[in-house]
Amino acid sequence: METHYSQLSDHLYVHHGYVNIGILRDGNCALLIDPSGASLQTTLSELGITQVEQILYTHHHRDSAAGFSIPENARVGVPAAEVQWFSEVETFWDDPKYRWHLYNCHPHNLMLANSIHVTDTYAEGTQFRWGPASIKVLDTPGHTDGSVTYLVDIDGQRFAFSGDLIYDKGKIWELYSLQKGQQTTDYHGFLGARDELKESLEKVRKSSPTALIPTHGVVMRNPDAAIDKLFDNLDHCYDKYVSISALRHYFPKLFTEFEGRDDHMPIREGKPPPDFLRHFGTTWLIISENREAFVMDCGSPNIIKQIQQLQADGEISKVTQFWVTHYHDDHVNATLEFQETFPCETIADAIVAKVITNPKAFRLPCISPTVTRVDRATCDGDSWQWNEFTMTAYHFPGQTYYHGGLLVEGHGVRMFFAGDSFTMAGIDDYCSGNRNLLGKDVGYEKCLRLIQELKPTHIFNCHVDPAFDFTDEEIAFMLDTLAKREKCYTDLFPWDHANYGMDDQWVRCYPYEQEVAPCGTAQLRVEVTNHSSEPRTVTAQPILPETWSIEVDPAETTIPPKAEGSIQFSIAIPKNGLVSFEQGEAQGPRPTAEEEGRKRTIIPVEITYNDTPLGQFREAIFVLTGG
Ligand SMILES: [Zn+2]
Ligand SMILES: [Zn+2]
Repeated sequence: METHYSQLSDHLYVHHGYVNIGILRDGNCALLIDPSGASLQTTLSELGITQVEQILYTHHHRDSAAGFSIPENARVGVPAAEVQWFSEVETFWDDPKYRWHLYNCHPHNLMLANSIHVTDTYAEGTQFRWGPASIKVLDTPGHTDGSVTYLVDIDGQRFAFSGDLIYDKGKIWELYSLQKGQQTTDYHGFLGARDELKESLEKVRKSSPTALIPTHGVVMRNPDAAIDKLFDNLDHCYDKYVSISALRHYFPKLFTEFEGRDDHMPIREGKPPPDFLRHFGTTWLIISENREAFVMDCGSPNIIKQIQQLQADGEISKVTQFWVTHYHDDHVNATLEFQETFPCETIADAIVAKVITNPKAFRLPCISPTVTRVDRATCDGDSWQWNEFTMTAYHFPGQTYYHGGLLVEGHGVRMFFAGDSFTMAGIDDYCSGNRNLLGKDVGYEKCLRLIQELKPTHIFNCHVDPAFDFTDEEIAFMLDTLAKREKCYTDLFPWDHANYGMDDQWVRCYPYEQEVAPCGTAQLRVEVTNHSSEPRTVTAQPILPETWSIEVDPAETTIPPKAEGSIQFSIAIPKNGLVSFEQGEAQGPRPTAEEEGRKRTIIPVEITYNDTPLGQFREAIFVLTGG
């Protein structure tokens, strides 16, 4: 039988499952660090461990805290700052503020589906003994806000269980957990937790461990070299981000340390928009010679009033077409009211339309629960005439993957409405949750190639008054920087392509949230983007309540390089759909969601990607209806 553990000292073992699990052994008793996954039990049996006395978790993420049956009477210790995200996870799953709008992403939704019973909480300086070990706790935020490191002194050595601060020499597991606001919300904070992460790693380094044992990753016997290389890589990656960031236009103070850098793209001057355009909030409006109006986006009721004022002043007669650039709430919050006030055709790119017509099916940054009616979904390159203007629609995966672009030609100008995708300072990819993919023909590479080809005289951003354009040299510089980024971000992660570490939706559940009725059948699709240059095989397994049954076709799928694949599940909901989960909580039967007055059931999905088990990597939400 294959062995899934290694021995680091007389009393210390590490089980290699979804993550590294520390096993401190004292005869037949054990203390476990980050126990997760069912395969751990096999190792415990092989080691002759019959009693798990104590459990420690470094942080709340589900992929390192779920799937292991916590024995009755075991003490369970968690970081004090995250105790709520172990023992009251329902407060996360049931609170609309953690479901809609989402300008903050701490805590992350990689959260336990059901609460566990916690007996101890730990913070900086806590020290205790267990069997042959002395354990000291360090607060080490970064990967999550409340992550801790456990320094374990045992057998004359010191081992640091450092959570997900570092994966291996120079590498981290992923970067979307480091999305954190510095002067603003998390939304603008690309790699915003990097300083916090560095401070935490310095603290760990100062404690002089013999080895670092990361949650995800490989045991590091030379912590200094591993940490130094990570700092270099992070600095380089961040520099390549800043050098063409649109955010330099909005929040220059965030980047004062980079001022005057001649290897960063200079910020362009704007130019006045043509006089047949109007700009209110995030809305651009085109006025035709016949006084009809073409409107783009509607983020607030104020916009509707301003358009009515244009009508009252006789500047426009009526609105005849409405284009939605992307799904963000500041562009769609008032579409319903808009559509009632100005009956006209609503048009959006097909990929944008999927989100705005059914937002519940997605979990994305800044997502609005408003459902927008779309009368016509466009494909890349669809063209039509609107009065004297020629309109051409594009899928424009700039600021978000779910984003369109519109070329408007007429009156001797070529105007490109880029939604939020550019400012005069560059590209707008400061929120990793927006899925800004790196690589050929995807993300901003695709967008910039299109701009190169279309050569617009004016580019418009929904949040910026002046129009602008880019020189050929600037476009070439941005493309070159993106190519460099693809390389340096790939070096930052253990994955064979940067996108796995940057896009937390490379595996996703569709629909993310759906209503299901007792005795009904629900469809759930697990979609996977293969970012590798070779085929990849994926298996997915939803973790269901015991009485639910499931059919799958196929159970496993192989996805060609740079392509998408999916696994489709049919899930039968029993008559009493809401039953208790038994996910190893041995503290007696938990109250059912129904008994607790809840209707939301979180279904975690276990993923294995090319033989690498990723644990309960993603989740879907089922909302039980009365039936
Ligand atoms: Zn984690
Ligand atoms: Zn936006």
